[in-house]
Amino acid sequence: MRTEIFINGQFVTGEEQEEVIYSPATGEPIGKVREASLTQIELAVHSAQKAYPSWSKTTPKDRARLLLKLADKIEQNAEVLARIESLNCGKPYLAALNDEMPAIADVFRFFAGAARTMSGMTAGEYLSGHTSMIRRDSLGVVASIAPWNYPLLMAAWKVAPAVAAGNTIVLKPSEQTPLSTLKLAEFIAEIFPPGVINVVCGRGESVGSPLIRQDAVRMISVTGDVSTGQKVLEAATRGIKRTHLELGGKAPAIIFDDADIPAAIEGIRTFGYYNAGQDCTAACRVYAQQGVYERFVADLAAAVSTIRIGEQNDVGVEMGPCITERQRSRVASFVERARQSSHIEVLCGGKEAQRRGFFYEPTVIAGARQSDEIVRKEIFGPVVSVTPFKDIDDAIALANDSDYALASSVWSKDVAKSMRVAAELQYGTTWVNTHFMLVSEMPHGGMKKSGYGKDQSVYALEEYTCTRHVMVKL
Ligand code: NAD
Repeated sequence: MRTEIFINGQFVTGEEQEEVIYSPATGEPIGKVREASLTQIELAVHSAQKAYPSWSKTTPKDRARLLLKLADKIEQNAEVLARIESLNCGKPYLAALNDEMPAIADVFRFFAGAARTMSGMTAGEYLSGHTSMIRRDSLGVVASIAPWNYPLLMAAWKVAPAVAAGNTIVLKPSEQTPLSTLKLAEFIAEIFPPGVINVVCGRGESVGSPLIRQDAVRMISVTGDVSTGQKVLEAATRGIKRTHLELGGKAPAIIFDDADIPAAIEGIRTFGYYNAGQDCTAACRVYAQQGVYERFVADLAAAVSTIRIGEQNDVGVEMGPCITERQRSRVASFVERARQSSHIEVLCGGKEAQRRGFFYEPTVIAGARQSDEIVRKEIFGPVVSVTPFKDIDDAIALANDSDYALASSVWSKDVAKSMRVAAELQYGTTWVNTHFMLVSEMPHGGMKKSGYGKDQSVYALEEYTCTRHVMVKL
């Protein structure tokens, strides 16, 4: 497969240093990608700028046609894409194939349809003798920066709404996981006019930072760490660029005494450890009501101990490794610091797996207190903490007491109670009796330090467009 960057419809070798790409499951190198040089970054932005006038004038119908073609291509090549994704991220192949690939194709299909529904407010006379109308127009060149946890899905979330709305884009995948995005670029090359979608590879400081600082970039969309979001904001200040930030998370899951406890345990076992917990919506901060707390932590630990870890193609594998050795040591150091507190109990896991690759055992931490680092900081690994709570007010207060505000869930058979909690939680998403479920029609995005702006849904089209007023004197 190609490992060159993609500028103006052409694959070209990056001119800067070589980045080695690893398999997290074995720790062995699987490829090399050269970083884009400053000249290449400028060229990519220039290509997007050159392609913009004609792309922005295409009809929604024509843009939709190309997006649908790309969705078909993804579906036809789902197996190869899932192989690349699972190899590069270490995630189970079947999860990449059956969970991610259909979702990725659907994102392009959804925005193909949504592009055709965009409309401004109908005309009206608000000043005598003048007719006003609202237009919803594209912005220009968008620079998008993606993370490593779901490389292709995040690329889809960024590319589809941006180009559906009539913008052109320069996308930078994570330096650790560029391979599936470069495979996608092969399909893009067959379908889209040159310059509409460009892909440059490299690290944040050396490629991401100069990319977002280019004068022609009118909007920056980033999914990543809070500290990266802060750097993006600083860069955006200079050029007064629109920003869209999808940053970290520390999702609370509130388990009431009256919940279906086996279902809640199954839910946390699944949604706390999916993608090895490297998920900004992972159900990693559990609050269990006092009446059920003891039973809940014991049963959760028993259930989590059965999670099968393994390499991407192992039979029955449920959980893969952390993305890098660095990420695994970060996870381990959080657990080690937690272990120092006498009130904390590590009920299962709590150590590196004794095998090659960057595996960390699925871990349940009981007795965690609200002030503990393990409750307050994003770990981004297979670690779930459980904290007891008294009543509904206590649960809401504890869950809302966080810098993060991306996703949350409440587990109870009492509909009225669940609805009250859902109304009072300050999170971009609240699920009731489930967690993590994403659909293309519904918005995904945070509040507080989790960022702002929406991916997915028609709200994402709003992010990538602006409203304009046109007034005609009669
Ligand atoms: P990261 O912030 O280190 O990197 C994300 C991307 O930003 C990478 O492509 C990186 O190269 C780039 N980058 C880093 N510094 C930059 C700079 N100064 N200028 C421009 N680009 C720069 O994050 P990561 O480690 O790849 O991903 C994990 C983080 O992403 C977690 O904190 C996680 O919560 C967050 N995340 C959030 C969501 C969401 O929807 N809110 C989704 C997935 C991941």
